[in-house]
Amino acid sequence: MKIRSITSHLLRVPLGDKTFYSSQAAFPERNSYLVRIETDNGLVGWGEGGQYGPAEPVAACVDAVLAPRLIGRDPTEPVRIWEELYAFSRDFGQRGTYIEAISAIDIALWDIAGQAAGLPVWKMLGGRFRDKITAYATGCYYPEKFDDLPSILRALEEEASTYTNSGFGLLKVKIGLLSLKQDIERLKVIRQAVGPDIGLLVDANHGYNAASAIRMGRMMEPLDVLFFEEPVPPEDRDGYRKVRAENPIPVAGGECDFTRYGFRDLIAGGCVDVVQPDLAVCGGFTAFTHVLGFANAYGVATVPHVWGSGVAVAAALQAVATIPAFPHTANPIALLNQPVIEFDRKHNPLRDDLLQDRFVLEDGCLAVPDKPGLGITVREDILTKYSS
Ligand code: CA
Repeated sequence: MKIRSITSHLLRVPLGDKTFYSSQAAFPERNSYLVRIETDNGLVGWGEGGQYGPAEPVAACVDAVLAPRLIGRDPTEPVRIWEELYAFSRDFGQRGTYIEAISAIDIALWDIAGQAAGLPVWKMLGGRFRDKITAYATGCYYPEKFDDLPSILRALEEEASTYTNSGFGLLKVKIGLLSLKQDIERLKVIRQAVGPDIGLLVDANHGYNAASAIRMGRMMEPLDVLFFEEPVPPEDRDGYRKVRAENPIPVAGGECDFTRYGFRDLIAGGCVDVVQPDLAVCGGFTAFTHVLGFANAYGVATVPHVWGSGVAVAAALQAVATIPAFPHTANPIALLNQPVIEFDRKHNPLRDDLLQDRFVLEDGCLAVPDKPGLGITVREDILTKYSS
């Protein structure tokens, strides 16, 4: 079997009045970079590259540089191809766009390898530990205008309740934009709205310096927060270590890190309690397996980040299924002893409408598909509708 064609798809959905805000960025649109790889015997694999930035540079890396090297190659050797592409682009790649491009290709090749073998990716990776995965809702972003705290609090109360009413047992909310005191007010309202039994996670999108993050962590302690995501910028490894040492809440991070080399420094550097590789960013399934091994050896929990289209969610489901409990226990019920999957709840038709089988939340969980490869069928009509 040989790779016959590699096609880039740039998808874009303007959000208009559904625009939302983290502590760092406005999100006036959703965009995704998808790659479609077709083989000479008619198999089609899908991958996604990048989650946060524009899709065009990833497409350029694939189309102009990486794809021409892959036509005619055996698609069922994703690890070998990963190593070759990384070695080829090391001098100018290493992190960022090139690794996002390699991520997309790697995910698509694992999809094809699974289909060729008649096995889901989780089985190709050695087996799954669970057939459904507890999902956490990501929500409670900031509105455009944030000077009217009482109205923000009222809206948050309403929004937070919608997640628990739809069956989520875990909720991740944004912090880092307002003053520490105001963000604590927001968290108090959210905790009150969801009750004491819901797991609460917070994400600062690296909005703090270490000193502020440590203060915030201490202020959040009574609110029973399970982890504190991206407290400081990803390059600030010392800041991560300080926050981890001096604030009482477990520290999570890694969505902006790349390959085993970046994660080696994050994990072995003692920066995080929970590592969050993003399949579409870190280097696909191949890099994910490296991160998982490192994390396991250092006693760090692996909980992949996912924020993109249905392809990225499908890839994350396959990966999370293969993560062992951390650590193994005879009675694995402890929260965050088992990995969970991120399920962003802001408007995104690229996540909710792109695949033939929609993601269905049942008892707060998403099912891991049994079909070969990623187990997905991409809808051509949705692809056409949002192509740019
Ligand atoms: Ca995040």
